[in-house]
Amino acid sequence: MSRRMNPSVRRILPLLPVLLLLGGCYTVPVTGRSALNLVDEKEVTKMSIAAFDDMKAHYPISRDQERVDQLNRVGERLSQVIPWWEVGDANWEFVVFDVPQEINAFAMAGGRVGVFTGLFRVVQNDDQLASVIAHEIAHVTAKHVQERLSRDMAKDTLGIVASPIMIMQQAVGASGDLAFDRDKEREADHIGMIYMAQAGYNPEEAIKVLERLEDVTGASMSIKDTLQSNHPSTPERIQRLTEELPKALEVYRLSGHKAAPTIIK
Ligand SMILES: [Zn+2]
Repeated sequence: MSRRMNPSVRRILPLLPVLLLLGGCYTVPVTGRSALNLVDEKEVTKMSIAAFDDMKAHYPISRDQERVDQLNRVGERLSQVIPWWEVGDANWEFVVFDVPQEINAFAMAGGRVGVFTGLFRVVQNDDQLASVIAHEIAHVTAKHVQERLSRDMAKDTLGIVASPIMIMQQAVGASGDLAFDRDKEREADHIGMIYMAQAGYNPEEAIKVLERLEDVTGASMSIKDTLQSNHPSTPERIQRLTEELPKALEVYRLSGHKAAPTIIK
């Protein structure tokens, strides 16, 4: 019996890494893209929460109640359309960091969302803030960090990999040098616009906030994720979002949410 099994086992052996990789695949929400995930989800959430707590210890927390309320209002409404399992067992937490020079926001597994006060120089209303946060949350639900880590791990199947914990710390850390490629940024834009529309925020504001960004920061800059992202140019992002707008508007119409009261500063 074992002798009869041997040839088939031998045939399967070279395929094992492939089978393992297939076993580690997941489907990205909204886009349906199939991607690799070899990382322990619970570990990612644990590390993300630790990194977020670290940030809270190192950056001043804003006491501007109006901004804090705005972020919580928008964050909570967005969180209602995002299944908890897609952000690694979310226990949502929204924090405004008082760093006026940073036009920046980020999200982490475990439902942690941070916004730096500089972003409020750009966003003019709840819908625009929702657009930025939805983009950041989309990086989390699409598991872009896990995909990057998984690729690094898969490259070296013999196990001569830097400690996964170390890579993860680098990935989720505020000063981490993990760069998402442009495809991931486009994907986050696409998913984010659908999320905001599902939550009843006007997706047209996703385009307006990018135009605002150009006005405020100049054409050479774009919102950087804390994860040092490599966004496509702002005009390209605007063009793509404009192409995707009709579908997002349809989602917005079907969302059943009434238009949010807009706060204009
Ligand atoms: Zn991004």
